[in-house]
Amino acid sequence: MNRNFILAALLALTASCSQKENAPDYTKMSDEERLKAAIEIAQSTIMVDGHVDLPYRMKVGRFTLQREILDVSVRTPDGNFDYPRSKEGGLDAPFMSIYIPAGNQAIPGASKALADSLILMTERLASTFPDKFAMAYSPADIEANFAKGLISLPMGMENGAGIEDDLSNVEYFYKRGIRYITLTHGKDNLIGDASYDTTGTNGGLSEFGEKVVAEMNRVGIMVDLSHVSDNTFRDALAITKVPVIASHSSVRKFTPGFERNMSDELIQAMAKNGGVMMINFGGSFIDSAYAAGSAKVREHIVNWLAENNLSRSDSAAQAYIQEYSEKNNPFPTVQRVADHFDHVVNLVGIDYVGLGSDFDGVGDSLPTGLKDVSMFPNLIAELLKRGYSREDIEKICYKNVFRVWKAVEDYAASQK
Ligand SMILES: [Zn+2]
Repeated sequence: MNRNFILAALLALTASCSQKENAPDYTKMSDEERLKAAIEIAQSTIMVDGHVDLPYRMKVGRFTLQREILDVSVRTPDGNFDYPRSKEGGLDAPFMSIYIPAGNQAIPGASKALADSLILMTERLASTFPDKFAMAYSPADIEANFAKGLISLPMGMENGAGIEDDLSNVEYFYKRGIRYITLTHGKDNLIGDASYDTTGTNGGLSEFGEKVVAEMNRVGIMVDLSHVSDNTFRDALAITKVPVIASHSSVRKFTPGFERNMSDELIQAMAKNGGVMMINFGGSFIDSAYAAGSAKVREHIVNWLAENNLSRSDSAAQAYIQEYSEKNNPFPTVQRVADHFDHVVNLVGIDYVGLGSDFDGVGDSLPTGLKDVSMFPNLIAELLKRGYSREDIEKICYKNVFRVWKAVEDYAASQK
C-alpha cells in the first residue's frame, strides 16, 4: 500500500472521529450558549412556516387596492410578521394564507373573487420589494431564493370554497401559484365537513370533494387537512395518492374535545400516509387552560367597561384593556409548544412534524417567547435543550414539508 494513501486514510479517519467528538451537546450548554446555537441554526437552515395570515391582515387593514401595500419591508408596530423580524428569526418561507371566510360561501363567485384579489396582493408585495421578497412555487424556488437572501412567499388557499363548484378551478389556482388548499374553513362547504361545524352536512368528504382531492393530486396541489372534521380527514387520507399536510394544527391531547387539533389516531394515520403536521402556536391550540383563562379576562373587561361607562374605542379603555390583558392572560409558554413537538415525535417519530405558526391569524393569544416571527430561535433552543439534534431541527424547519411537497410534484409530473 502506498504510504501517501495510508496517511490520507489516517487523516480522514481522524477527521471523522473529531467531527463526531465535536458535535455539540446542546443539552449541556448554558441557556445563553444554546440560544446562540439556535440562532445560528435558524439563520443557516431554510425555515418554512405552513401558515401566516399576512394577506388577510393586509385586507383587514384596508390595503385592498393593488397600489397600496402594507409596508412589511420595514418593522411594523402591529402584527406578527414583517421583513426585519422574519430575518431576525431566520424564517425564509412563510406560506401566505389566501384565506376565504366561510361567510363568502353563501354568495356564488365571492370566494373565488376574494382568492384572486389576495393572490394579486401577495404578488404585488413581491414585485414592490424585489430585493426582499420573491414568489415561490416549489421547494427549488425556495432554495434559490434562500441562496439570494430573499424571503419566499409560497401560497396556500385556506378554504377550498375558492374553487366554487367548478373542478376546473383546481388547475386554475395551480396556475395562479396556489400550492396547497385547506379543504374547508370554519363551516362545511361543497368539499366536505369542517371541524368547527357540527351540522355534518356531508358526513365527511363529499362526492365533489373526492373529485377535488383527485384533481389536486393530479395537478400538484398539496392537500391540507387543517380545519376539516375527523370524518373528512379520514376520507381524504383514504383516497389521496400522495402524502398530505396539516398546515396549522396542534395536538388534541393538550386541548381535549377541540376537534380543530389532531387526535393521536389522526397523527398516526397521517404518519402512515407520509404526511406532515405543522404545529399551530395560537394559545387556544396549545393549551385548553388558555381558552378558559382568556374567556375570564374578556368577561372582566366587558364588566369593567360597563361599570366605567366606557366603550372599547375610548383611549382610556384601550390602555386599561391592554394592561389588564397582558397581566392576566394565561399565555402558554414556549415549553408548552415544545410539548406538542415531543408528543408527535414520541408517537410517530421526527419525520412528520413541522412549523405552522398561524402568525397574523390568532390575535393576541401567542405564547410568551413566541409572539412573532423573530422568536423562532426560542423554540429551537427549547427543542435543543430536550435533546433534538441539528438534523432533527432541519427536518422540522423544512425537510419534512419538502419531502411531502416533492412527492406531490413527482406524482403530478407522472400524470402528464
Ligand atoms: Zn386557519
